[in-house]
Amino acid sequence: MLDNLRDAVRKFLTGSSSYDKAVEDFIKELQKSLISADVNVKLVFSLTNKIKERLKNEKPPTYIERREWFIKIVYDELSNLFGGDKEPKVIPDKIPYVIMLVGVQGTGKTTTAGKLAYFYKKKGFKVGLVGADVYRPAALEQLQQLGQQIGVPVYGEPGEKDAVGIAKRGVEKFLSEKMEIIIVDTAGRHGYGEEAALLEEMKNIYEAIKPDEVTLVIDASIGQKAYDLASKFNQASKIGTIIITKMDGTAKGGGALSAVAATGATIKFIGTGEKIDELEVFNPRRFVARILG
Ligand code: GDP
Repeated sequence: MLDNLRDAVRKFLTGSSSYDKAVEDFIKELQKSLISADVNVKLVFSLTNKIKERLKNEKPPTYIERREWFIKIVYDELSNLFGGDKEPKVIPDKIPYVIMLVGVQGTGKTTTAGKLAYFYKKKGFKVGLVGADVYRPAALEQLQQLGQQIGVPVYGEPGEKDAVGIAKRGVEKFLSEKMEIIIVDTAGRHGYGEEAALLEEMKNIYEAIKPDEVTLVIDASIGQKAYDLASKFNQASKIGTIIITKMDGTAKGGGALSAVAATGATIKFIGTGEKIDELEVFNPRRFVARILG
């Protein structure tokens, strides 16, 4: 996603056209790339207007080359677009710590549960996984396979339909075993457009297990619709964080990312592939550094 921006930066820094022409060309390319990555058009124009304004009102410091200074401004403003300086807190400030994952089916929730467990296990925590997605028959099996692959115990009750009960018993069992981080994969049976039902279900399980954090898993391909879902979630859950999956697979990733950032919700991780280690702590600056090269 946004791959051609890296080339545009290179062209801008090494090109032979005049500075003013190069700036104009770069801004056009930036607009094109962001719009094709499905970032909201209004956001794109307000971003480029801000860049132009800063160019007019600010002067490059003497120690920095003018073209590099321009790229720095672009970098700053892009970072703001994707959430500013917010560094998500990924290491829990208390132990035990219970994380509950919610999200629409197919977004990558179960995969993400495994990725998170692996992330925390590598950091040295004792981690347990609870499989409470009772609507998708293969979900528990999938979680058990992931658990086996990374050496993390999985609690599940094959055949049982009471998701709230499973979540409760699983968390209790792991707490009694002194697990430090417990990750609960919940049922994501609802389709898009049924956010209200999803949030309602979240409330029921929430009441039963009182997690320390609720994480909404969103698929990058929903693009700007992520704004609505993230805002509702952000209002419904004070301790909510967001993980955007499939950032590798779609040109629409920019839409989901900027939409979520615009709600002020904390994006904690992004999923960048199907493999267990393809999960990155989300940091707007690092993300922008990567797309600008
Ligand atoms: P769930 O129904 O939300 O639990 O979804 P799953 O965890 O079963 O994932 C659905 C599909 O998305 C699977 O094929 C996963 O391998 C895939 N998937 C999950 N996360 C990512 C990601 O970050 N990138 C890519 N490319 N695929 C992913």
